[in-house]
Parts: sequence; structure tokens; C-alpha cells
Amino acid sequence: MFKKIFFFFLFLNLLSNIFAQESVNYNITAHRAFIRINPELKKLDIIDTIKLEFLENKKNLKLILNPIFDSVSILYKQKPLKHERKNEFIFINGKFDSSDELIINYNGYFKQRSEFSCIDVKSAILKEQEILPIGTRSYKYTRFTIQTPIEWDAIALGKKVYDGLNQNSRIHIFENNNLVETIGWICAGKYYSTEDSLSNIKLSIMTSPENADAHTPLYNLIKKSITFYSKSFNPYRFPTLTIVEVDDWLAGNTVLAASYPSVILTKRRTFTTADSLSNIFSILPHEIAHQWWPLTNFIEEESIAFLSEGLCEYSSYLFNETQNKPTNLNKHPLLRSLLLKSEKGKELPLNKKIDLRSMPTHYLKSTYVHHMLRFIIGDSNYKKLLKEYSDKHSLKVSSTKIFFELAESISGKKLDWFNKQWIENTGVPRFRLYGVQTNFKDTIWYTTGRVRILGYSDNFTTPVEISAEHNNEISRQILWLGYDETGKYKNETVFNFTTKNKPDKIVLDPDGYILKWQKLPPKFSDLRDPSEGFMIIGTSFSSERYQQLINLARNDSSEMTKAGWYIKILDDTSTTLVHLQSERIFIYGNINENKIAEQCFKYFPIKPSLDSVELNGKTYSDSLSFMQIIESPFSSQGTICWILPFTKNSNPVLLPYDASYLILDKTHILTQGNWKTENQDLIFEIK
Ligand SMILES: [Zn+2]
Repeated sequence: MFKKIFFFFLFLNLLSNIFAQESVNYNITAHRAFIRINPELKKLDIIDTIKLEFLENKKNLKLILNPIFDSVSILYKQKPLKHERKNEFIFINGKFDSSDELIINYNGYFKQRSEFSCIDVKSAILKEQEILPIGTRSYKYTRFTIQTPIEWDAIALGKKVYDGLNQNSRIHIFENNNLVETIGWICAGKYYSTEDSLSNIKLSIMTSPENADAHTPLYNLIKKSITFYSKSFNPYRFPTLTIVEVDDWLAGNTVLAASYPSVILTKRRTFTTADSLSNIFSILPHEIAHQWWPLTNFIEEESIAFLSEGLCEYSSYLFNETQNKPTNLNKHPLLRSLLLKSEKGKELPLNKKIDLRSMPTHYLKSTYVHHMLRFIIGDSNYKKLLKEYSDKHSLKVSSTKIFFELAESISGKKLDWFNKQWIENTGVPRFRLYGVQTNFKDTIWYTTGRVRILGYSDNFTTPVEISAEHNNEISRQILWLGYDETGKYKNETVFNFTTKNKPDKIVLDPDGYILKWQKLPPKFSDLRDPSEGFMIIGTSFSSERYQQLINLARNDSSEMTKAGWYIKILDDTSTTLVHLQSERIFIYGNINENKIAEQCFKYFPIKPSLDSVELNGKTYSDSLSFMQIIESPFSSQGTICWILPFTKNSNPVLLPYDASYLILDKTHILTQGNWKTENQDLIFEIK
């Protein structure tokens, strides 16, 4: 359940690695493939006609084909063509015309599933790179004829143009005429399928029968988000959109969903998870935005964080704004993890090529960068930017550089410093309000003070909003810190307010426009960023109770391991200080049965008894459980979670709850709260 809150567009960088050192002068522009799926034998028979366009006369050709396929034969102009296979490569010698076709015939067995593909008796999920010949590509046309068992359905890129029976099998044909850079997956199996439409777009949902109830509300959400994006960007360009439920193993446990042209794969657990941020309804607007970014506005690989994931997340943010859904990035569950990572110097620049599955905080950071850009160039300019970017760079490969050039021309502002500061570099600025004074003169309150950027090493430049607040009366002004237009660096500046009433407080960045250092309370949501740690089990009460505690820990750790955690379970009696100095500690049991709970009791703000706790005058006990998380006194930036099931009937589940402490009935929260933190640097109370 501890998956990273976002979801991934899978970008296989296989090609760029393999071809990086060579100049490639051809493109595969079409596939016309016949694919027979035999689930009993786990076998694929494929005949693929590929169209190649050469940029210059070329005698040699190198393609990639999954080594599980053998008996490869190639026909060129109706004659067999000699080729050589070496590992995943096919080398072909021939004299090709500027545009040519090859027919490649091969078969193979998917005995084991890979990270991205699998055939079993119930279904098949097949990734382009693992079943088709691959080279540099830009597909203008694709046609897939898929043969499956009679009772199976199938889904592939494009519009279904044929569906019929042929003796003991079923034939499905999909055709696509839209320019795409990827085919994604071919899925087949038994589904509960429904259809709907939005003007000319055919919508389909294919899930297991137990998720049938989700279809109607999902169509509702799909229609609203496509309508919003089609108005804000270019109109949706494909004739169909299909949502397909897939098994949880696909692409590793940190992935929740994957988008490819006109299809979105979403994992089974997105329908059932208790974590509201990983739920299908939360992630779908982001996944749908991928149909534009980067599936219509193609990008260079180093722009994935900013122009694919960040832009999809921010598109979903803009959509949620129109739905009156909460959108405050300053309250984002990953913010504390991001700030701690930055403080530790473990942050990586957004333009560095990494597997984003290992860096959930990149999603928040790149989303924040869009948010700050909108603040700097203004709401209408930012929206114009997305519209023009969508329009002018549709079906072309663009980059962060191109995006910022467009932003500069629309806003008339120089933004190279912004790109450099937030995308090429790392770090988060720290601010401080100080010297605040108020004076009353001639019925008016005069408030003055200073704001400073702390530290000199990073030299941040940013606008920052300051507000003077008295109940609901809020006066605001925007100040500029850092480099000015003449290139001079100013790390502090003065603000002045004149108000009718005396302000109660001065607030820096009241609406959370700027990604900045702040003190945030530890919360269970910090566990969204995977780490390593120990679960410490109380042994002293009874063997029955010990069994209960260790079972809880085993269930929790197995879920967390799926999301990238490394966890060891220990008895309290064998726990040493070295273990406690680990970044994440989880204590199971009360102070009578767990020595470590007893030892750490003094650090926890709320003091439960052995089998109950009193919160706000109310006593919680019996089958309930109490959990709290604090900063670790043994490890800087570490945390300690205490899981206290009150009785043998308590079965709490450790999830990334958005709270510092809570009362749980299994996964249901009865009451919760956060530790108070003070940010005197950012909020100045006027006495
Ligand atoms: Zn994504």
C-alpha cells in the first residue's frame, strides 16, 4: 500500500543507450503485425511487416529483437534476406531504397514473465519492446491483427476495425493513423467491458467484474478531464480512449499506472487501495494528461521530470482547481520528504536522467516548478503558454529549453535564471521575516519589516508574497529577492503596510506559491518516500501477543517492501543502539511488553496507557489501536513510529496516513492530529 503517490509513464531508454554511439539514419514508420497468442503453450507467433524510411542510402541495418524469439526469417521483395543474430540484435546486409518494407516472421515462448510482459492461461500483456522488432521509430501507421482464444478480448493502439471468430479462435484488428513514438502494450484476456462516448471519442473501460461499479463514475471523470484538457490544450487527438485494469506486478511495485497512446493501464490495487492518493480516481486526471504530455508533445529524455510527469501532475492540479478540489502544494504529503532530501543534499536536478520510480519527490518538485512559473509570469500567461506549447510543438520533439523560450516570448520576462535555479540545480531557499514594527498615527497603522534569504551559497532569486493579516482583512504585496535586472544580488528587502486595523501577524508566502524551507511535523505520510528501517517487536507479555505483534509487522513490512522499502524485523530484546540509529524505527507493542517502547516513552508527546489512550477528553480502547510518529532522537532526520494495538482484537494497518498521531480501527481513522510546529521565520505574530 505504500506505493509512491504518483504513477509513471514508462520510458524505455533501451534505444537511446544502444544507439547512443551511432548515427542512425533510418526510422521504422509502420508495423503491420499478425500476432497469435497461445496461452496454453505461452507462445507467440508473429509476422510483422515493417516499413523503413532511410535518410540516406544504406546498406546495413541493425534492429533489436527479444532473444526469446527464434526461427526468425526475413523477406525482402518476396525473397529471403540473409541476416545475422547476436544477442538482442539482428544485423541485415542489403541495399535498401529510401523507403522499403521487410517481412519478419518469428516465434517464441514466454516461459517466464518479464518486468513488463507476461502470458498465462488467463491473460496476456505484451510490451512493444519485448515482442516487436525495434529500431529508431516514428510510427505513421500501425495495424495489429491479434488472434486469441474465443472468449478473450484484446486491446492495442488504435481503433478496433474488426472483431470476429475464426474456427477456434477470435481475431481482433486495430488500426492507427496518428503519428506516435510508442505502441505501448498489447493486452488480451477476459474483461468486464463497457463503452461510452464523448462527442467523436469512443471511451471504453475493461476491468475485472468486481470493479464494475467503478465504471460509471470513471466515465464521468474521464469526460470532465478530457473536456478540460481539450479546451486548455489542443483537442484530444485519438479516436478512442481505453482504460484497462492490469495485474499488480507490472513494471514493479512503485508503479500504479502507465499511459500510452489512447490507452491507460491501471493496476488492480488502484481500485481497492485504502490510500486515497493512490486511488484510480485520484490518479486518472494525471494519466489522461499523458495523452498530451509527452504522447502528443514529444520530448527529449532529460525533460521527462519537468515536461512529462511534472506537467501532467500540474495539468491534473489545474483540472482539480476547476472541480473545487483541494490543491495546496504546501500541504503535499511528500513535501517534508522533499525538504529533508534537499537538506541532506540528496536531491538530484530535475533534468538529470534517472528512473523516476526511485525518486517520488521529483514529482512534487517538478509540479512546484510549474506552480512557481505560473506565479512569476502570471496566471493568464501560464495558461497561454500551455495552450501555445500544445499547439506549436504538437507532434514534434521539444525540450525544457524550447518550453522556456516560449514562456519568455509570451511573458516578455527573462527566465534563464529560473530554469537554471530550479531545473538544472538543486536546493530550496530559506527565508526569514525580521525587524517587524507597527506604529499608529492619524488613524492608520504603519507596519514595516524586512525579509531575507538565508545563506549565500545558493544565491536564490525569487519573488515572494508577504501578507499583513487581521482576521479576514488581508493586505498583500510581492517583493523581489536575489538578482535584479542589472545583475546585482540583493538578499534582503523591506516591506511596508498601511492598514486601518492593527495586523495580528505578517505571513511570508501565505498561499504557498514558492517551494521553500519550512518546519513540518513528521507524519505517517513521510513513509511514502521509501527508506530502510527496523520493526521492533515486544516479546515480554505472552507468546500469543508476540505472535499478534509479529504478524502485524510482517504484513506491514511486506506491503512496504513492495514499494521499495528495506525492512528488518527484530525482537525488542535483541535491539541495540546501533539499530535505533537507523533512519526509520517502528515499535510494536506497549511499554510493558516492549523494552524499546519503554525506553522511548519519554520522547512521545502523547502518553498512552497499556491498553487505552485519552485524547481530547475521550478514551479509546478495546479493538482500536493508537499510532504516533516523532522525529528520532537517535538519528538526524530519522523518525520513530509507535504502533500500539490495545488488545488481541486490534489489527491496525500501517499506511501513509496524513497525520502525526491517530486512532485506528484497522485502516479506518477515528480521530487524528498533527504535532504543532512553529515557523517563526515565516509567520511573525505581532503582539
Ligand atoms: Zn505519470
